[in-house]
Amino acid sequence: MDGKVVIFSAPSGAGKSTIVNHLLKKYPELEFSISATSRAPRGNEQDGKEYYFFSADRFRQMIAEDRFVEHEEVYPGSFYGTLKSEVERIWAKGHVIVFDIDVKGGVNVKRIFGGKALSIFIQAPSVEVLRERLIDRGTDTAEAIEKRVAKAASEMEFAAGKFDYVLVNDDLDAALAEADKVVGEFIGDQAGKTGI
Ligand code: 5GP
Repeated sequence: MDGKVVIFSAPSGAGKSTIVNHLLKKYPELEFSISATSRAPRGNEQDGKEYYFFSADRFRQMIAEDRFVEHEEVYPGSFYGTLKSEVERIWAKGHVIVFDIDVKGGVNVKRIFGGKALSIFIQAPSVEVLRERLIDRGTDTAEAIEKRVAKAASEMEFAAGKFDYVLVNDDLDAALAEADKVVGEFIGDQAGKTGI
């Protein structure tokens, strides 16, 4: 059974998780696509909840078996991908799939699903604001911040014109309301149209 998909991609620090989690709570017909990854679980992450965790060898084997819709080596040595079985699992329930994937993956998934997909790029208002946010967060060294900012700048350049919708996350409440409206209209939910 074929259904719809909503794709979210963003440079780090743009507030993607906050927006995605808000939408998943608001629209029960949305379901998060659990990606497969070869990176190790972080903190309280559980297999089958945030990700399906595999060794790099097993991941490569599954690529050879053609089990992925798309996959990327997002960081050197760390593979991420969407399993075909995950797409089937969610569509079988009649749900709309929500992807939280990197910018390249987002463009690939849009190409694969075409009109069935709404792709949204979440953007921090500017490279300067992104740098300030990362400094305020206080979790990264100055060097790490510059690396993230440089990656974000190149991702923004790469994303230009390749997504259906660009959501500028300047003011969070405004960004959440805009996300409600755009996603609500796409999935045909009355709540999205009336802003309830
Ligand atoms: P993290 O390791 O922080 O959970 O994720 C790192 C990056 O990988 C994020 O940008 C996330 O969106 C991306 N990612 C997660 N799952 C997938 C996937 O299935 N495919 C691709 N291409 N990227 C993914």
